[in-house]
Amino acid sequence: AMAVSLAACGGGGAGGGAGGGDGAGDGEAGGLVGVAMPTQTYERWIADGDAVKTGLEDAGYDVDLQFAGDDIPTQQQQIDAMINKGAEALIIASIDGTALGSQLEAAAAADIPVISYDRLIRDSENVDFYVTFDNYEVGVQQGTSLLTGLGILDENGEEAADAPEGPFNIELFAGSPDDNNAGFFFDGAMSVLQPYIDDKTLVVPSKQVDFDTVAIQRWEQERAQKRMEDLLTATYTKGDVTVDGVLAPADVISRGIITALKNSGYGKGDLATPIVTGQDAEASSAKLIVDGDQYSTIFKDTRLLAEQAVTAATAFLEGNEPEANDTETYDNGVKVVPSYLLPTVIVTKDNLQAELVDSGYLTEDEVASGQ
Ligand code: BGC
Repeated sequence: AMAVSLAACGGGGAGGGAGGGDGAGDGEAGGLVGVAMPTQTYERWIADGDAVKTGLEDAGYDVDLQFAGDDIPTQQQQIDAMINKGAEALIIASIDGTALGSQLEAAAAADIPVISYDRLIRDSENVDFYVTFDNYEVGVQQGTSLLTGLGILDENGEEAADAPEGPFNIELFAGSPDDNNAGFFFDGAMSVLQPYIDDKTLVVPSKQVDFDTVAIQRWEQERAQKRMEDLLTATYTKGDVTVDGVLAPADVISRGIITALKNSGYGKGDLATPIVTGQDAEASSAKLIVDGDQYSTIFKDTRLLAEQAVTAATAFLEGNEPEANDTETYDNGVKVVPSYLLPTVIVTKDNLQAELVDSGYLTEDEVASGQ
């Protein structure tokens, strides 16, 4: 089913003309692909970077893989350098989705296709394709697992017959405001939680419910810990108000929250361990789930995402358009970017072995040691 679609025909800065006369379009091995990843601080991006690099090398390409230490100017320089080195395609997981305008202009001017990886690059015409997970659904799954953990829903996501009455005290966290995904996660989660907030089954004692108020800049663990500590000090000092659950959008944030909760006595005596959600199935959080400190994570198989990125890059380099399975959702402010969305899975203690270990995503040792 290979349609002969000359990407360049669509015109308009689609950057699809990479095959034009420079040897990249002949389907032969070779050509440099630049891969820009945000940071090595969190496990998931290291896994992503490795998987994309290996996949591209297996397909016969040379790879320039760079991590930017979550520093925007560093990422800009790295992408400039990739273009100068003659990269024929770019795969970019941005730090700030709006900060790469001039890099993308340079890429378009050189007919280099740009694939936005996991996070949507915003406010630019020059984004050719987007590979990611169903980010809204990730949020829905996070909200659902919070409700399941609290006993409000059963394991099938139905209202539990024996649901405890509540009300339950929860706090909300969201990801970095400059990451387009963060809003999708939060909106997805709130679509599930809001009805229970409205009927008072769930209470947010801090009253902090707006995205901007609960967002954690740059997804930093320390910032999340600090915010949880501040919430505990400001709202939960009287002993009679205790935290029952926390919506956490990513494992790294969950870990900060869990540290704050433990430091203030949760999980000991009659202060039960709150239900804390997560995302990414990082080894350190898999261990926390096995140990009962974190309730859930959302498994996003980065091996499959890397594979999609490689497939998309290869399509462009062979002069074709990659196949999208969503052409409606991801408006980057200038255009709707054709996307390939992958599904995700809620993981708790019950299915961790099957989903993460048996699938080969993590080893027994990584789960046992947390690294
Ligand atoms: C990714 C998440 C990740 C977060 C923090 C988001 O863009 O989609 O998987 O947890 O960034 O790194």
